[in-house]
Amino acid sequence: NLHFAESLSRLGTESAFVVLARAQALAAQGRDIINLGIGQPDFKTPEHIVEAGIKALRDGHHGYTPANGIPALREAVAADLNRRHGVEVNPDNVVVVPGGKPTMFFAVLMFGEPGAEVMYPNPGFPIYESVIRYSGATPVPIALREENGFAFSAEEVLGQITDATRLIIINSPANPTGGVTPRAEIDKLVEGLAAHPQVALMSDEIYSNMLYDGREHVSLLQYPDIRDRLIMLDGWSKTYAMTGWRLGYAVWPDACVDHVTRLCINDHSCVNAATQYAGIAALNGPQDAVRQMVAQFDARRAAIVRELNALPGVRCADAAGAFYAFPNIEGTGMRAKEAQDRFLDEAGVATVAGTSFGAWGEGYLRFSYANSTENILEALSRIRKLL
Ligand code: PLP
Repeated sequence: NLHFAESLSRLGTESAFVVLARAQALAAQGRDIINLGIGQPDFKTPEHIVEAGIKALRDGHHGYTPANGIPALREAVAADLNRRHGVEVNPDNVVVVPGGKPTMFFAVLMFGEPGAEVMYPNPGFPIYESVIRYSGATPVPIALREENGFAFSAEEVLGQITDATRLIIINSPANPTGGVTPRAEIDKLVEGLAAHPQVALMSDEIYSNMLYDGREHVSLLQYPDIRDRLIMLDGWSKTYAMTGWRLGYAVWPDACVDHVTRLCINDHSCVNAATQYAGIAALNGPQDAVRQMVAQFDARRAAIVRELNALPGVRCADAAGAFYAFPNIEGTGMRAKEAQDRFLDEAGVATVAGTSFGAWGEGYLRFSYANSTENILEALSRIRKLL
């Protein structure tokens, strides 16, 4: 008899978690399941980061911190962005939140409402479309195409701007495609946005450390013309194998900092203190573990792309970043969801249907290669037999 708010019916979800639950349930029944479904590093958080978290607890850091994050952490973020992207960031513009997701939620709530339009990548991280709908705004997809290496087209994005456009979300390197948008396209987008000063931009750069074949990450922070309306999201989950710690941040423009801090105070008060100390150790400590993880992802990427392309009816673009391969499976005669279900039920391999990332994902399947090369090869050999 409960009378739920209408808005709740518009809230979507992230199917990777549903697939994970099913894979775990099958494993609990004794099935041998290889999980290429979930997007999280299969590594442990580096030891010195874990130690810093434990030390913070022992040192008595048990209380609230400032809502936007402890100053030493926000300074460490600014220094890290300077080292990696060559940009100057004022630590006062950095707002630390529990993971990457809260920044998207707050950015969309800040600009989205009935009558407003928000653009988002499709196929893309499913939470974008979910929270846009939840806010009451109209989601306007930015189509990402295989023939463009799943990069967005600046011309298409700019061509979709209307008087109602409030916010544009971009993501490179991208989930679920592994696509990386080249600098020339980003240049064009920023140039074109000069004619639309009322439009905010959220750049989700959570995979900024995971690019391959000598590619360099292009951060939107490198474009001074857009800094007064740019929200740049990044975090610790992927880079430092810290998904369960819940730690992320964004660099917000001056005009947004008070608003987002108020959203934090209303929502979660602050990120737990020990996690923030671990975050400082991650940024200020040695980066060897990050380099080693990325080198392993790169080796697995080569293996999975090669093996996928060897399957009948399957072709896979050379994934440029993140840790996902997004093969086209139309030639197998299966729809995305059917392939997802059959690969799990009949071959014991968890993957995620492209349609879980938006309608433009039909005909594709997401394989996360955050798993050992041995498991990846075994998974692909099972799928080959099934096909
Ligand atoms: N942004 C993208 C593109 C992602 O793929 C993910 C996680 O899968 C996130 C953000 C969220 O990361 P977090 O686990 O830190 O909330």
